[in-house]
Amino acid sequence: MIEQSKISEIKGVGVKTEKCFQKLGINTVGDLIRYYPRSYDVYEEPTAVSEVEEGRVMTVSGAIFGRVQVSGSRTMQVTTLYVKDITGTLKVIWFRMPFLRTTLSKGGVITLRGRIVNKKGTLVMEHPELFYPAAQYDIKKDTLQPVYGLTSGITNNAVMKAVRIAMEHINSISETLPGEIMERYHLPDISQAVHNIHFPKNKTDFHTARNRLVFEEFLDFILSLRQLKESNVKLENHFQLEDKKEITTFLQALPFRLTKAQLEVWEDIRTDMLGPHVMSRLVQGDVGSGKTIVAVLGLMLTALNGYQGAMMAPTEVLAKQHFESIGAMFLKYHIPLKLELLTGSMTAKEKRDAYERIERGEADLIIGTHALIQEKVVYHNLALVITDEQHRFGVKQREKLAQKGTAPHFLVMSATPIPRTLAIILYGELDISVINELPANRLAIKNCVVDTGYRATAYRFIEKQVAKGRQCYVICPMVEESETTEAENVIDYAESLKEELQGIQIAYLHGKMKQDQKDEIMTKYGNNEIQVLVSTTVIEVGIDVPNATVMLIENAERFGLAQLHQLRGRVGRGACQSYCIFMSASKSKETKERLNILNQSNDGFFIASEDLRLRGPGDLFGIRQSGLMDFRLGDVYQDAKVLQEANEAADWMMKNLSKEEITARLKQDNLHIL
Ligand code: ADP
Ligand code: MG
Repeated sequence: MIEQSKISEIKGVGVKTEKCFQKLGINTVGDLIRYYPRSYDVYEEPTAVSEVEEGRVMTVSGAIFGRVQVSGSRTMQVTTLYVKDITGTLKVIWFRMPFLRTTLSKGGVITLRGRIVNKKGTLVMEHPELFYPAAQYDIKKDTLQPVYGLTSGITNNAVMKAVRIAMEHINSISETLPGEIMERYHLPDISQAVHNIHFPKNKTDFHTARNRLVFEEFLDFILSLRQLKESNVKLENHFQLEDKKEITTFLQALPFRLTKAQLEVWEDIRTDMLGPHVMSRLVQGDVGSGKTIVAVLGLMLTALNGYQGAMMAPTEVLAKQHFESIGAMFLKYHIPLKLELLTGSMTAKEKRDAYERIERGEADLIIGTHALIQEKVVYHNLALVITDEQHRFGVKQREKLAQKGTAPHFLVMSATPIPRTLAIILYGELDISVINELPANRLAIKNCVVDTGYRATAYRFIEKQVAKGRQCYVICPMVEESETTEAENVIDYAESLKEELQGIQIAYLHGKMKQDQKDEIMTKYGNNEIQVLVSTTVIEVGIDVPNATVMLIENAERFGLAQLHQLRGRVGRGACQSYCIFMSASKSKETKERLNILNQSNDGFFIASEDLRLRGPGDLFGIRQSGLMDFRLGDVYQDAKVLQEANEAADWMMKNLSKEEITARLKQDNLHIL
């Protein structure tokens, strides 16, 4: 068996299983062994009963208290027992396992591992794995069991088994790193790393394996960037742009003055665009720092000079919002420019019409999603391309859009707070400008970190804010993929919230909804026809509804701080006092400490660095911190050190290897990020 072998060659993988694997993007044995676990189950030291936490999988150990009961209907028998340790008693239930009544006896010592759920105010362990006698647990203790991303029709065990067989039968996995690099950075060889990422015997194995794979992932990314940069040497600016007095008038007419930082960044952009070379610039600015208006100035400069400009957003909701708010601005300040919206959910006819207006140059500025880089779009003198919230876009997509014009000016806007040293590596091919202050009229958001016992109070608070005419977001608790879907979860939550908050218009939003539904909800929310929006993190990016003043985040403990900071950035955008409530089901001291960082500061850079400091770079398969760039394993924050090392290694390789060797290695790997 070799890496290119079909997965059906693996014993036990039949047609049905093969289909499931294909749905996961796994076609060959090589794909399978590179389908790394999403996380690992750790069989930890049992927790005291008094310390169990809602929503988590935990282990407890104690004596069986009282008799084991079986109740419920014949088809759904529920077995109940109580387990007691010196700190308290916990109720445990199983479904359809009545035989347990005869196997478990009163007073016996048992160890149980399962999810803790909240049943009408009581914490219950549901359907746990059981170890009886308790000592059986010792065999599994401290081991790591891989947990894979699944699709319906395939179990975790099936994936695990297939990987195991593949690893046993594969002839060899060819080494992909030069020996010098492996030696210098103490990296294990590829076979060992791949084996141990699936089946680590302990945490050290896991870290060593992961470290190598992350290193390689970063290295290839950086090498690709270098190649891009080489092919992209400063291009001559052949656009004939000049300053326009309309822009000065517009800036004077705005209800606010630009901040000093905004003005400086605008000056960078202006200078680039009027200068001798084509602009490639990244604008970094924390949420709410006012990046949009700066982008608009760039677009105005372009279009008022008779060229076309385009702005691409990562979601339709955001594209639409930009389209509407920029349109309204142009109308209000009498800017005679025509905007065109282009998104994937438009009908074929709408798209055709839009394409025509774009090609004929009737559209001055085009705002849209990925639809902007479809083959069919032909631009008319495209001179500026902006991508908003760039971390959702790959370099490839940016290139594709750039190719639509004759090397247009390029502006990338990102709210992701990363230290400058990392930004230089990750965005190596771009110049960087930073908007490092917030508009002065902002009231600092008031934050609180609370436990779930505070939920009722939070709802009353929301009622009061709505009574004052304000609006709220509620970010729904996250669910494990194996349980209900995210969509079901949001719908359920919204339903129960309707009972709590009578007479208030509540709607929900999740990623799987149809686009026109999403648009309708966002439009209504924008018009305050909906007061409370229950949502998944789909609203994380860019949405601007200044009248929203409350952000309630359920299960805040499950998010990375950077993401929480982005979510919080949806409020505090208007003149009214805003509030962010981080609700956490966790009692752990570390979690509280971590969330408290958000209390101390509204500064994204500070938060990201504090988070890193607290967690330490070795945090085991923690929450994906940044969500920044879609690396398979690597995390820009968490693996900052590896990123720096990979950067060094890239330097070395560029010096010591031939161009062909480097190109060849980049072909081997599927660089899904670029
Ligand atoms: P982000 O940087 O997160 O994209 P936006 O561009 O959406 O931020 O701006 C957030 C809000 O702040 C918008 O409602 C915008 O009109 C407003 N705004 C932008 N610049 C200023 C400023 N200098 N003074 C006051 N408000 C501003
Ligand atoms: Mg924005």
